[in-house]
Amino acid sequence: MPTTIVQANAYDVAMENFDTAADAIGLDSNSREMIKRPERMLTVGVPVRMDDGHIHRFEGFRVQHNSARGPAKGGIRFHPQVTLDEVKALATWMTWKCAVVNIPFGGAKGGITCDPKHMSQGELERMTRRYTSAILPLIGPEQDIPAPDVYTNSQTMAWIMDTYSMTKGYAVPGVVTGKPISLGGSLGRNEATGRGVFYTIESACEHLHMQLKGATVAVQGFGNAGSISAQLLHQAGAKIVAVSDSTGCVYNRDGLNIPELIHMKALCGHVDGFPESEPILPHELLAMACDILVPAALENTIVAENAGTVRARIIAEAANGPVTPAADRILESKGAFVIPDILCNAGGVTVSYFEWVQDEQHLFWEVQDIYNRLERVMKTAFSDVLKIHVERKVPMRIAANMLGIGRVAEAVQIRGIYP
Ligand code: GLU
Repeated sequence: MPTTIVQANAYDVAMENFDTAADAIGLDSNSREMIKRPERMLTVGVPVRMDDGHIHRFEGFRVQHNSARGPAKGGIRFHPQVTLDEVKALATWMTWKCAVVNIPFGGAKGGITCDPKHMSQGELERMTRRYTSAILPLIGPEQDIPAPDVYTNSQTMAWIMDTYSMTKGYAVPGVVTGKPISLGGSLGRNEATGRGVFYTIESACEHLHMQLKGATVAVQGFGNAGSISAQLLHQAGAKIVAVSDSTGCVYNRDGLNIPELIHMKALCGHVDGFPESEPILPHELLAMACDILVPAALENTIVAENAGTVRARIIAEAANGPVTPAADRILESKGAFVIPDILCNAGGVTVSYFEWVQDEQHLFWEVQDIYNRLERVMKTAFSDVLKIHVERKVPMRIAANMLGIGRVAEAVQIRGIYP
């Protein structure tokens, strides 16, 4: 039976996970004071003339959590549930994520509270451009570099790049990543998050002596990260038995035809009604008897109330913050192996880093080169985290946070305090 779920606050979750990892590495109180909370937070009003002529004021945010190791980096989300606390949590996770994969960026995030599914292209463009001009003092290729996140894409990045460049008087491709290739985007960026998820699942299977070929998989959320990781797992011979999106869930015991499901989603915008599948309920997908569960939707989908029903051996967090600390404890007691978000989905920001480097150098790499470098970064990060997990006997999430927080704390300590 589906139970009523009390929504956890993502920022409280981020702070609780910080404290656990900071305790585990014995971080002193001065360092905690320096790195726990965001450096800079901006809330902006975004007035937009809607297609029917009336003006609607949206609320937008940009939070820079930490810039000790380099420019702040992180996506921009357009979603009805965006709040300042959610953006603060996502920015915090970006800081640890960039440190876990050891790229020279800090963490940031932005968002606008809006319902992009019910807005025209014109309304989205005007909202994006006005938001960009409102956060203009904060962003720049050396300062803070936005990227796509939930319900934003390469077109959104093109509008941000254009708006920023018009105020400078020349093209500044390095102000955003996840751009169209024709504007200085990187090959392999669009599929980078899903590809990184796939590499970490490969590493987890190796560690657990599990065969990926023939493994059964359930994927919650079929956006960029969910659909591309499903596709790569399908190509590797895994059986994707269940997939959901915001419109419904589909199931096929013998495995769904993922290339066709992606095709249908692109044409119709939903997965429900897919031929050769039967509809199931969202809680049935989470409780599916499968080897690998990929939460690829939003925060707090696996919580204390439903974690006990999860039967998968590997939980690969393609989404940011899908599992609450209370749910973590339940999964841990069941022996599940969680690949935490700041490791699992770090492929996106890693190729964002490659894109930024290429933009700065005006020299572009081949796609195979990107894949090879991404695989190396993801597998190194996985084994760095695994080492802490094994040696310190802590869950993978705590191990990843210990690694990320430790690296940021070291940078802050060496830099010292200004003035
Ligand atoms: N939005 C993605 C994330 O959560 C990518 C961020 C980026 O590329 O800057 O990691």
